[in-house]
This record gives sequence, C-alpha cells and structure tokens, in this order.
Amino acid sequence: MPDCIFCRIAEKKIPAKIVYEDDMVVAFEDLDPQAPVHVLVIPKKHIATLLDAGDEDMALFGRIVKAANSIARDRGIAERGFRLVTNCNPESGQSVYHIHFHILGGRPMLWPPG
Ligand code: 5GP
Ligand code: ZN
Repeated sequence: MPDCIFCRIAEKKIPAKIVYEDDMVVAFEDLDPQAPVHVLVIPKKHIATLLDAGDEDMALFGRIVKAANSIARDRGIAERGFRLVTNCNPESGQSVYHIHFHILGGRPMLWPPG
C-alpha cells in the first residue's frame, strides 16, 4: 500500500525506532507515547482493520502476540502488567488504517478506558 504510513515504516522507507522484527512482524516506538512503554506491533502485510483479518491471517496474529510478549518481557513490564490494545474503526479512535497493536505499560492503567 504505497500511501500507508505503516507499510512505509515496515519497508524502512520512513524512519522509526524499530525494536523488534521478524519475517512477518515489525514493532517500533510510538511517535507520541501515552505511557513510559508505548510500542506498536504491526504485521508486515497490509491489513486495514481487525475486521479485515482473514482465516489465512490467524497464524500472523499468533506471531503478533508472541512478539508483544517478548517485547513486554524485554522492557520489564511483563510481570508488572501491560495492555495490548487495538483500535478498530472510527469510534474506537483508530487513526492509522494498517492494523497495529499498542503495547502500553510502565504506569498504572485506568479502567474503563477513555
Ligand atoms: P490508533 O489511533 O490508530 O490506534 O494509533 C495510531 C498510533 O500511531 C498513534 O499512537 C500515533 O501516535 C502513532 N503514529 C502515527 N503516525 C506515526 C508515525 O509516523 N510513526 C510512529 N512511530 N508512530 C506513529
Ligand atoms: Zn499498510
């Protein structure tokens, strides 16, 4: 997707602080962090929203969880606690239409979320 900012980050065409990469997944620091740890985990494949995930993508979502767990452990927030959040469509607050999972941690989280 040439106009997709997260595709361009995955292709290294625009800069980002990449903290994890494998053949299917890339993770990088959020540009506008909302917590001491705020990392975005994305598939290299362009999938616009959670609702666009197909049966063929189920292994990919397992890889995203695996990457998120690894990053949470590396950043010291696994045992303290963290959130893995994805926003889907406008009322959720989704602003980038390439699916991404926010890893948020390093401070107490409120519930219900805003
Ligand atoms: P959403 O609101 O779609 O759930 O989350 C989009 C996230 O992407 C936001 O937290 C925003 O700060 C982050 N973001 C948007 N553009 C960029 C960018 O160019 N680079 C990085 N690293 N993060 C971005
Ligand atoms: Zn994309």
